[in-house]
Formats: sequence, C-alpha cells, structure tokens
Amino acid sequence: MTGENKKRIYLSSPTMHGEEKQFVKEAFDTNWIAPLGPHVNAFEEEVASAAGSKSGAALSSGTAAIHLALKLAGVKAGDVVPVSDLTFSASCNPIVYEKAVPVFIDSEPDTWNMCPEALERALKMYPHIKAVVCVHLYGVPAKMEELTGLCERYGVTLIEDAAESLGAVYRGRMTGTFGKFGIYSFNGNKIITTSGGGMLISDDEEAVARARFLATQARDPARHYQHSEIGYNYRMSNVVAGIGRGQLPHLKEHIARKKAIYEQYKTAFSDIPQITMNPQNPQGEGNYWLSCLTLEEDCDVTPAQIMDALEAENIECRPIWKPMHLQPVFRQYDFITLRGKGEGLGADIFHRGLCLPSDIKNTPEDMENIIRIVRSQFRL
Ligand SMILES: *Cc1c(COP(=O)(O)O)cnc(C)c1O
Repeated sequence: MTGENKKRIYLSSPTMHGEEKQFVKEAFDTNWIAPLGPHVNAFEEEVASAAGSKSGAALSSGTAAIHLALKLAGVKAGDVVPVSDLTFSASCNPIVYEKAVPVFIDSEPDTWNMCPEALERALKMYPHIKAVVCVHLYGVPAKMEELTGLCERYGVTLIEDAAESLGAVYRGRMTGTFGKFGIYSFNGNKIITTSGGGMLISDDEEAVARARFLATQARDPARHYQHSEIGYNYRMSNVVAGIGRGQLPHLKEHIARKKAIYEQYKTAFSDIPQITMNPQNPQGEGNYWLSCLTLEEDCDVTPAQIMDALEAENIECRPIWKPMHLQPVFRQYDFITLRGKGEGLGADIFHRGLCLPSDIKNTPEDMENIIRIVRSQFRL
C-alpha cells in the first residue's frame, strides 16, 4: 500500500467521547446558541475547580486569554515583557498587540522551559518590567519555584501560558495556578478541545470579572450601549462550552494515554544511543501532550529524514517550535541566553528535535508502525 492510501495518523487530533454531543444537544434544545449561557458558566467553574483556582473566564482562544492577562497586568505600550523563546507565536503576539516589547528568554536543558538564570539577567537589564509570560512546553512543567521566586523578588506579574499543559502538576499544584494569571487553550490539537477556545484563570475574582467585561466589548452597566473603554469580542459561545464540559471529565484518561505513548517511545528507542526523549520535570508530572525526541549532535540521521520517512507513510509529525528570536517578524527584539551570543539552547533543540505522533487514538499497530519507521532510519 502506498502512503496516500493509508489512513492518516495524526500528531494530536480531537478525541470525542459522546458526552460532548449531549451538552451541545442541550444547548440546541434550549436554544442557548448565543455567546454566554449556562454551559459557559458551568465550564468556567469546572475548569477553575479542576485546576484549584478560584475563578475562570471562558474565552474564544488561548491567545485572547494571554492578551487579557497582559491588559490586567497593566502592560502598556513600550513595556518590556520577558517571554519564553521556545514556544508557539501565540505566547508573544499579544505582547505586540499592546505595542509592548517582548524579550525572548532562552530555555534551560532540564525541562526545555524558560531558564531562570536567563530571566534574572533580563530582570536586571530592564528595570521597568511589569509582567513575564512563561510557557510549560509540550505539557512539561517549568521550574516554577525559581520562576515564581524571581517574579516575587522583582515585583513583576507572572502570567503562565499553560495552553499545552492542562492537567500537568508541579509539586502537587496544577500548572496555570502559580502565576497571578494562568491561561489554557482548547484548540483542536490540545489535550482536550472545544474545537477552539481558551480560559483565563486566577484567584483574583475581581480581575477575572474585569476580563469578562473586556471580553464582551467593555459594555458599561447601563440600559443603552455605553462604553468608557475599548473592549474585545473574546467570549466563548455556549455551544462551544458544551463541548468542553463533555471533554473535561476525560482529561485524566487523555493524560494516561499520552503518558503511555511517551513511555512506549522511550522504551522502543532506548537501545538507540543517538535518540533522547524530551525531558520531564522530576518535581512534577507533565501531561505528555506531545512526545518529542532529539538526536545527538554528531548523528548522521537528521530530523528531516525521520519526518520525511513518516510522512511518506501518511503519518503526521512536526518540527519542534521554531524559537521566537529566529522568527523574521520578531527579529528586532532582544534575546537573552546564558550561552554567550549564540543562538541559544532552544535553537539547538529546534535543529536536533522533532515531535512524534502523539494522538491518543493511535492503535497498537499504529504505534508499532511509527516505531518501526523511526528505527529503520538507524543502522542498528
Ligand atoms: C496553542 C497555544 C497557544 C494559543 O492557544 P489558542 O487557543 O490556539 O489561541 C498559546 N501558547 C501556546 C504555547 C500554545 O501551544
């Protein structure tokens, strides 16, 4: 069979269970199709409570949640905002929406997340920093003790981009609850999905109420339409929230499946010294959203070669996120690394790594196939 005739194996696609349809049906049956409604309120309570946070605002995307978190943190034009370098552009686009200035912070090798020492360098270099955006990449918790300690010491607001790490825990606490604000994404490829959506969570209920206000066009409490500030159309719809309510009870099960995939790859490649799986944080438990590998520097197999071999059999895989400081659109911004003036650790991971298919609907045969193809690239 040629590649095109084979069923496609995905990197990470939505996995539905049936309850989602029930909640959506309920929204239709009650004609609660408009934005807002009972599912939105319930979903906010359910996610906040699962995370161990006091409140949440359900929004149209994780990006919208980051944008509102920055506004609530008081970030204004010209403010410097340190942000993880190795991430998806959604982590830093909203900084630029506000005409603030992102400064990209290199990764550390233990978790691939924001390097605390590099962050401290940035905090010393730029005196008027109001907020930091740190990411839990691929569902692996960042070094939160060090990062929260620095943010406290320098008096800056921590915003956790936990878009990829819903359900991941650091020292017994959910990622997303360490910063003043945390954000989750329910985009189609994330660990649970609403088809598209996001949430801002915080223990500061007033701030979350203000996020809801800004997300509904900043309508003043008046009978007529009155506005005293600029708002956004960022709220989640009641139909979409219904999908989320059906997904959330399955989060633990999704994480268990993702972990099994990671462990299977790790075991399957343990005899290939050129392959290293992405690191996990021993201080916590990740959600294993994507399983990634890196190849040794002197390896004669390239990530592109492995990706080509998988794609030839209709199996989706992806490069590691390309670091933000290497993106043409962000070229003018500063990049802080501990490793001299080089491209940094994130760029090294990008060049040597790739994301393996991590779809929880993969069958044992799918997994065997993927592993066979990867292994066949190496002379064993
Ligand atoms: C997916 C993602 C986002 C954005 O979420 P959307 O819901 O797609 O807007 C932000 N940051 C990271 C790290 C992500 O992976």
